[in-house]
Amino acid sequence: MAKTSKLTIIGSGNAGYTAAIYASRAQLEPTLFTGLEPGGQLSLTTDVENFPGFPEGIQGPELAQKMRKQAERFGTKIIDMVVERVDFKSRPFSMWAGADQYQSEAVIVATGASAKWLGLDSEQRLRGKGVSSCATCDGFFFRGKDVVVVGGGDVSLQDSIFLTKFVTSITVLVRKDAFRASTYMQEKAKKNPKIKFLMNTEVVEVLGEHSVAGVKIKNNKTNEESEILCRGVFVAIGHAPNTDIFKGQLELDVKGYVVLKDGMMTSVPGVFAAGDVHDHEYRQAITAAGAGCAAEIDAERWLEKQEQ
Ligand code: NDP
Repeated sequence: MAKTSKLTIIGSGNAGYTAAIYASRAQLEPTLFTGLEPGGQLSLTTDVENFPGFPEGIQGPELAQKMRKQAERFGTKIIDMVVERVDFKSRPFSMWAGADQYQSEAVIVATGASAKWLGLDSEQRLRGKGVSSCATCDGFFFRGKDVVVVGGGDVSLQDSIFLTKFVTSITVLVRKDAFRASTYMQEKAKKNPKIKFLMNTEVVEVLGEHSVAGVKIKNNKTNEESEILCRGVFVAIGHAPNTDIFKGQLELDVKGYVVLKDGMMTSVPGVFAAGDVHDHEYRQAITAAGAGCAAEIDAERWLEKQEQ
């Protein structure tokens, strides 16, 4: 027998929790599936200094935990499971997690985005053995070691600065001759004596048998190859939306992001989306939270209309 909700939220990042706080305060008794990374990308980050209301900054996992508590306080039913399959072709909408089927009159998709990988065989073989996409989670294991960080965005530089707490040296590999990171972050990273930069540089191979021993790199201007000895490789090259389960159910753009049609409504009336799963432009904690709020308001109004 399927368990039925009025509103189900898939995902537990800023967008998902904000939608849940609003929906539970509106007495919709929402169900929220946390997914694989409870708290979303916030739980993988360190200092959050640009979320209004925290003048001294706050740790990402702590902010996520506070949002969860706030959603629970107003009655959100939180299920720590991954939704593996959905059927949005008929109403009520169906979702499957573990052995159970869940149904819902309306759904907010807030599954966010996950780290991208370089796509090298050696990278995948050594994942968890020195190759990581989460400096916050794994930095501790590289105490006293040399590491490389791949990517020239804010996350790469933020991760590098964080890693200086543990490691001896960091070489940041940037594939172009320019950073994508903000000037503020570049200046902060450049001031740190443990961090150096190699521009126009790509990783050709991650070296090592059972654990990372180094990287083979190529300067893409000169085609010159060389090796860096290191014990860790942190890949920070951006994210891709978590939309595999929505293929064939919701309209997605060429990069896989959910397409919004009317406000926060997707191509399926009654299914809404919020946060990094549709937003490849702003991707901030606060914009995701705002989108979660907007999606909930749209869902609430849509549900009201169905009852008229
Ligand atoms: P970004 O997309 O901003 O940067 C990705 C970086 O990785 C770019 O330098 C990109 O290079 C590089 N890259 C992409 N693919 C590859 C590849 N295959 N091989 C090598 N390099 C590659 O992603 P981030 O994750 O850094 O940031 C995401 C968003 O979060 C951004 O909007 C950022 O501003 C924001 N953010 C803001 C913070 C803040 O404090 N305000 C902190 C952290 C993140 P190229 O430029 O060549 O494409």
